[in-house]
Amino acid sequence: MDLLTIYGQMGLSQAVYDRGEEVLERLTDRFRAIDQRAEVNQAKVLLAMQKNRIGANHFAATTGYGYDDDGRERLEKVYADVFHTQAALVRPQITCGTHALTVALSANLLPGDELLSPVGLPYDTLQEVIGIRPSPCSLAEYGVTYRQADLKPDGGFDYDAIRAAITPKTRLITIQRSKGYATRPSFSVQQIGELIAFCKEVKPDVKVMVDNCYGEFVDVIEPSDVGADMVVGSLIKNPGGGLAPIGGYICGTKECVDRCAYRLSAPGLGQEVGANLGILPAFYQGFFLAPTVVAGALKGAIFAANLYEGLGFRCVPNASEPRNDIIQAVELGSEAAMCAFCAGIQGAAPVDSFAAPVPGDMPGYDSQVIMAAGAFVQGSSIELSADGPIRPPYAVYFQGGLTWHHAKLGILLSLQKMVDKGLAVL
Ligand SMILES: *Cc1c(COP(=O)(O)O)cnc(C)c1O
Repeated sequence: MDLLTIYGQMGLSQAVYDRGEEVLERLTDRFRAIDQRAEVNQAKVLLAMQKNRIGANHFAATTGYGYDDDGRERLEKVYADVFHTQAALVRPQITCGTHALTVALSANLLPGDELLSPVGLPYDTLQEVIGIRPSPCSLAEYGVTYRQADLKPDGGFDYDAIRAAITPKTRLITIQRSKGYATRPSFSVQQIGELIAFCKEVKPDVKVMVDNCYGEFVDVIEPSDVGADMVVGSLIKNPGGGLAPIGGYICGTKECVDRCAYRLSAPGLGQEVGANLGILPAFYQGFFLAPTVVAGALKGAIFAANLYEGLGFRCVPNASEPRNDIIQAVELGSEAAMCAFCAGIQGAAPVDSFAAPVPGDMPGYDSQVIMAAGAFVQGSSIELSADGPIRPPYAVYFQGGLTWHHAKLGILLSLQKMVDKGLAVL
């Protein structure tokens, strides 16, 4: 059976497919550059695994306290080597990205200290962690204050405001690499490096944490290569490679990571405890695959921006901008278009392809939200997924795709659903 016959059975027309091929012809150079970066990152991961002499014995399960878990310890050395840090904490006991960030913040801030975000408001879930929105057990409740310097209207760093916000109390600075669901640009590692250098010039003993969610392996350097004391992220995003079913990581200086380990388990215990429960093969193999998976997701994002921008929809980032994370926003202009788009992403999924996404209420949102995801791992956003709040400009944020070909099909089917409903014209 040829490709178009199979795609036809999934509802994809020749016209939409051909439009996609036209767009792809112009993307060969950009795709080549992505593959070159993936090759560098693959080499980094391989070298780290070889250097740490990973053997089949390191995949064994441990239970109970998990003392002397060599597989767990070597995985953390592999992460530390890839991120070029002294230490790493990589654990299934870290339940998600927000949890990893919470551990990193609460371990390295004491009562009386101040936290500074020099890049505006942090990601939604962190606002309760910090206490920007009051919440039980927030940092604010423990006497940690918070200050923020907003970005300039053009998305650049406001260095005067940042200098003014750094006080004798400032202990930790948090920088979010990806825009998340905000409208600001995502930052390149180089930009983050410039910001870190500035902050450390103003206050040499300040520590810097980077929320690295969605950014891992997009570039060939990471924020830890440009002065971050901690980089933090989720294993059901980029570095889990789609195989990790849970988990988070913190890579950084030994001083910071030790404190994180004491916070995660208990003072005195730290990294010595934490059974792996048989999860290590997925962590190792997922990390091994992650550079390729991220490359596929990046190709999908660039393909979507070029396809949709060509049809008159505003895309953030736009069709030609460089990429600093795997998230693509497309402004569709109406609820009906958001529903059609999400129906296409859902219809292309390997799991739950038969489900129909509909807008619904979500805690913490003042408008309804639509979500499309048919993932092997619940909530995994390195797998192809799309979501967005039902409000102007009716933007869907989509990301992921464990393989480029799946991302491509999802995007084509999203357009097909819009064309079928007369919401896009080829
Ligand atoms: C996803 C994300 C988080 C939180 O991760 P969860 O795993 O959803 O808790 C934090 N910051 C950014 C920028 C993210 O994209």
